[in-house]
Amino acid sequence: MDTVLRGAALIDGTGGDVIEDSIISFRNGTITHVGTAADYKVAGHTDIYDLSGKYIIPGLIDVHIHLDLHGMADTYRENLVENKLRAIRSAMEMELTVLAGFTTVRNMGSTNYIDVAVKRAIEENLIKGPRILTSGKIICMKSAGIEYFQGMYREADGVDENRKAAREQLKEGVNFLKVMATGAIMNPGGVPGAPQLNTEEIRAVVEEGIKLSKYTAAHAHGAQGIKNAIRAGVRTIEHGTLADDEAIEMMVADQIYMVPTLTSNYLMLQHGEEEGVPSFMMEKAEEVSEIRVQTAKKAITAGVKTAMGTDAGTPYNYHGKNSLELVRFVEENLMTEMEALCAATQTAAQTIGLEDMIGTLETGKAADIVVLEKNPLTDIKCLLNGENIYKVFKEGVLIK
Ligand SMILES: [Zn+2]
Repeated sequence: MDTVLRGAALIDGTGGDVIEDSIISFRNGTITHVGTAADYKVAGHTDIYDLSGKYIIPGLIDVHIHLDLHGMADTYRENLVENKLRAIRSAMEMELTVLAGFTTVRNMGSTNYIDVAVKRAIEENLIKGPRILTSGKIICMKSAGIEYFQGMYREADGVDENRKAAREQLKEGVNFLKVMATGAIMNPGGVPGAPQLNTEEIRAVVEEGIKLSKYTAAHAHGAQGIKNAIRAGVRTIEHGTLADDEAIEMMVADQIYMVPTLTSNYLMLQHGEEEGVPSFMMEKAEEVSEIRVQTAKKAITAGVKTAMGTDAGTPYNYHGKNSLELVRFVEENLMTEMEALCAATQTAAQTIGLEDMIGTLETGKAADIVVLEKNPLTDIKCLLNGENIYKVFKEGVLIK
């Protein structure tokens, strides 16, 4: 049986013209038609929704979250949440995420493979949630502050150990691999500008992934670490905070995707030490708060494909509030509303390698569809209010 959504203004995710008075239909989870009401004939057995006055966008995609961090002010306290309870909390937060219109998320590092378990529970229809891409543990060199996230990192030094660490993640069934190419803001002792794993070590991880057609993503703030990671063959640069001109040129030349994750920094500064964010995080977040926006602007202007990722789970960065990153893009004058929506749909799908399946509303793609009460092109903030998320379909199944 076909499901038909008729009458809404449709934004298809490509950045093209809005289709007023649209018709979109789908069957068995796959889109069968997208167009205007004029060029569609409703056939026999159909389930019709009249959506006049509403807006349709593709299911949104957040390409950088941490599903088993819960937004606690001091991330050290996340360690005190017992593992099984943590998995249950993560499951609940993934429901909030899909209800907010995010039908796909990429998880960028998980404690003790909770990501793999929650993903499976969603696939088995035990719980509601988005499509999840998993990385398992983050592969990193021996470095300060790792204990701040117990069970989330796999320390590995040298080429052989990195190869082994990659194989361990792949054995757990992850969708891609993640490495630390520089220090982090949220680890005490971590120096964001300092390179970490070197090119040969990252390349070993990349090679192991390629054997199973899986790519590698690199956490990288500093310019040298970004270049090391690109030379090693990674697909995406997470953060990219201190990219210099050469690093930006390399991203353009090698078609590397960048995920600026502005929300995490923004929320740390909004709440601050008075609200429990540790001083070592605040110092680093303050240091890079301006430059990371400037770098993102430079990279976007230079033509670096830039996708939407929140780093959800970091202090006060709650799951289900993912659209904050789109608001940042617009409010920082990095993108128009339409460009921001594309960064969370078409470009995000390309970033994670699912562009043949999701990201745009086209015949043959998965019916991941969000119906909104308000026009996100005139008010991007409307995405933050759950009342404006009228319906969510994931592969044709009505979730909300
Ligand atoms: Zn992250």
